[in-house]
Amino acid sequence: MNDVKVAVVGAGFSGMGAAITLRQNGFDDFVVLDRGSDFGGTWRDNTYPGAACDVPSHLYSYSFELNPEWSRSFSKQAEIHAYINRVADKYDLHSRTRFRTEVTDARWDEDQNRWIISTDSETDGAQQIRAEILVGAIGPLCEPRLPDIEGIEGFEGAIFHSARWDHETDLTGKRVAVIGTGASAIQIIPELAAKVGHMDVYQRTAPWVLPRADREYTALEHWIFKNVPGAQRLSRTGIYLAHELVSYGLTHRPDVLRPAHAIGRANIRRGIADPVKRKKVTPQFKVGCKRILLSNTYYPALGQDNVDVVTDGIAKVTPTGIVTKDGTEREIDAIVVATGFHVTDSPGFEHIVGKDGESLAQVWDRDGMAAYKGSTIHGFPNMFLMIGPATGLGHTSMVFMIESQLNYLADWLKTVQRNDITRTEVRADVQREYNREVQSTLETSVWENGGCSSWYKDKFGNITTLWPGFTFNYRKATKNFDLAAYETQRAESARRPEPQSASV
Ligand SMILES: Cc1cc2nc3c(=O)[nH]c(=O)nc-3n(C[C@H](O)[C@H](O)[C@H](O)COP(=O)(O)OP(=O)(O)OC[C@H]3O[C@@H](n4cnc5c(N)ncnc54)[C@H](O)[C@@H]3O)c2cc1C
Repeated sequence: MNDVKVAVVGAGFSGMGAAITLRQNGFDDFVVLDRGSDFGGTWRDNTYPGAACDVPSHLYSYSFELNPEWSRSFSKQAEIHAYINRVADKYDLHSRTRFRTEVTDARWDEDQNRWIISTDSETDGAQQIRAEILVGAIGPLCEPRLPDIEGIEGFEGAIFHSARWDHETDLTGKRVAVIGTGASAIQIIPELAAKVGHMDVYQRTAPWVLPRADREYTALEHWIFKNVPGAQRLSRTGIYLAHELVSYGLTHRPDVLRPAHAIGRANIRRGIADPVKRKKVTPQFKVGCKRILLSNTYYPALGQDNVDVVTDGIAKVTPTGIVTKDGTEREIDAIVVATGFHVTDSPGFEHIVGKDGESLAQVWDRDGMAAYKGSTIHGFPNMFLMIGPATGLGHTSMVFMIESQLNYLADWLKTVQRNDITRTEVRADVQREYNREVQSTLETSVWENGGCSSWYKDKFGNITTLWPGFTFNYRKATKNFDLAAYETQRAESARRPEPQSASV
């Protein structure tokens, strides 16, 4: 068994940010564990054609590592992945990270006052790590959700999820079905439409897709970002504030977003000539209720003669095709599954077991998904969850939320060290009241009143994934660690285990 002060699970934006924060605050005794082979999480795994961020790169990057070199306003996956790796190199995170190491179980041991973390890796096999603090940075959109469709396992052609793209399969000239019309699908479809023989797009709900102000940065802009002090930060601040305005409409006054309906409809008209297709792809809910998507190429791709939009609902998959509920069978060579991720029911929640022997999955299944400030959870002492409940966004960069959490994490660690505290657990009443307020703020929101069903809601009908309102309010809420919200135990009252090994 290895002993370590902090174990961070996940090496995406969140886990890397946590590692950098630990270093910067003098907590050098930590390890980062990731089942993948590289840094980047989302940006390592999503290599599908067209993969790119949908928040401008100057904002979708760490505030402490601005990148004047972004080639365009919405960078593509490879560029974001390269940026993340440069950051990892700069902060020397390789020396602290174990790749290809899956955390199979993380269990709070009340007697030892430690997390016992079981790992499995190709090189070292099964091992255990004992940690004072567990940082779960396992990603909100990390576990691909596969559709539960009769016969899908018996399909004889190529079939893969958007987040597990099979680059060995050449789809040129093939008959391809794309299941789903969410954020990944709208990036994939234009790329495929240009090369496949025929494409059927299986749409359950038409999303709002607005034009995207995407363009390459000029040499002059690059020069300015590099050489004019404050220029890039000013650009970032402008992008940030513009996005925050949207948040007011989403949370408090959905009617102010009404002009976006006209912009969305004009985008449809620009891209699609066929009135039947236009009608099929026109959303029937208020803009913002599901994630607002941005693309200039999605509707023109759907408008192509070799692309059909199928809205009849899938009945089953046969070895060679898809049968819709109206009985029509469409023959295909390949299926691209773009049906999103397990968000509120991530399998990762089953592996985290708290003080009462219940997993996060069990607790949330029973009580609903909840945390305090999206970060700490009653029943799970000394654990910090990155991008936990009520931290997701429909309008701006998740990296802003991640960095807010990192402030809270840093202040927590410093506070417990200063006060010689060995165990913190958020009080149940504090967590309950916090979530009551979150739900009450959401009552006026478009997610509650916009007329759609979305993955933002859990099975109890609560919107447990989204932060309500302006992100600067979350930044304020996470600025300082509020010790009074926690039950604590000091060093003298804790039973300390003897460390068996000093380093990992
Ligand atoms: C296609 C796509 C595009 C997106 N675009 C945007 C965007 O434009 N703007 C935006 O704000 N957000 C976007 N997001 C959301 C994005 O997920 C977050 O912005 C951010 O990247 C999350 O970082 P993370 O580190 O929390 O999670 P992730 O990047 O998902 O990293 C989680 C890591 O945890 C590891 N892990 C999980 N479970 C285990 C385990 N049991 N053992 C070991 N390792 C484990 C995974 O391997 C992974 O490396 C996008 C998401 C997707 C899927």
